[in-house]
Amino acid sequence: MDRRSFIKIAAASALAVGAKGANAAIFDGENYRNAMQQDDAGLSVRFLGTGAADWFDKDERGEYRRLSSVLLEGHIIIDFTPLAKDMIPPMAHPDTIFYTHSHGDHYNPKAAIELGIKRVYLSNTWYDCAVADFTREAKKLKVSAPEIIPLYVGQSVEVDGVRFTPAPANHATAKRYEQPLIYVVEKGHVRLLYATDTATLPAYTTRWLNIDRHVAEAKPLTAIIMEATMGMGHNEDYRLFTHSSVFDVERMVKVLTSTKRYTPPVGQPVYLTHMARTMHGTQAELDAQLPAPLKAAYDGLEVVFR
Ligand SMILES: [Zn+2]
Repeated sequence: MDRRSFIKIAAASALAVGAKGANAAIFDGENYRNAMQQDDAGLSVRFLGTGAADWFDKDERGEYRRLSSVLLEGHIIIDFTPLAKDMIPPMAHPDTIFYTHSHGDHYNPKAAIELGIKRVYLSNTWYDCAVADFTREAKKLKVSAPEIIPLYVGQSVEVDGVRFTPAPANHATAKRYEQPLIYVVEKGHVRLLYATDTATLPAYTTRWLNIDRHVAEAKPLTAIIMEATMGMGHNEDYRLFTHSSVFDVERMVKVLTSTKRYTPPVGQPVYLTHMARTMHGTQAELDAQLPAPLKAAYDGLEVVFR
């Protein structure tokens, strides 16, 4: 039985908020990044935003979720919009971004350039559009455009010891030939699935993720961050073919767990993100109501997967 324990970071959280605290003088710039990357520190994730496209500001309940985005290891971002900028710790200097797809709640070239991003990874299926977008925005800002690197389904790339494998999402955009992506992010023995936007997992995607039930030597996932655009009781929403619900994620996790294709450390939650404002309760309600092991992530939450 796996006795690895799951730890929601205390130490890294202290670093993240350190600008206001005692660590501020020590952990800045490279020190912050090095602290996030230490091998024995696991894979660090900070949620910069956890909302779907219908969040713009605090709502009538006083709740707010920025558009979905994560910061990995203190310097690698998956998806980014200007709304999430204030969630980046002052001592972090993101230099790399991976995009899942070109929808405006995930992709904003101007915001990425202004953040100082140097390397951009995205699907080869809309590479030309992205190059044009970034070139145009860089020209307007009078800076040089970042390097843009096309990704191909199933072909892994490694960035500073973290391995990213893109797999097809069950999602679509107005660009007819675009294939949106989800990612397996690996560091050490951590295999994190970051899945937004996608309507559950198509069979051919499980093959790319190496959890296909037809493959004898399946490599289990050890961590999951997944979209739940639709909340509890919203199983028949029109987004059924492009997004997942809490029910979908719960069902998927049960099946992957019972077939040993998801083997997390004891006590580690499955984190939900990309939650629609109109289809979820408040964070307090979600904390009270979501079925284990599902947990609603929130903006600023920091986790280390081990
Ligand atoms: Zn989308």
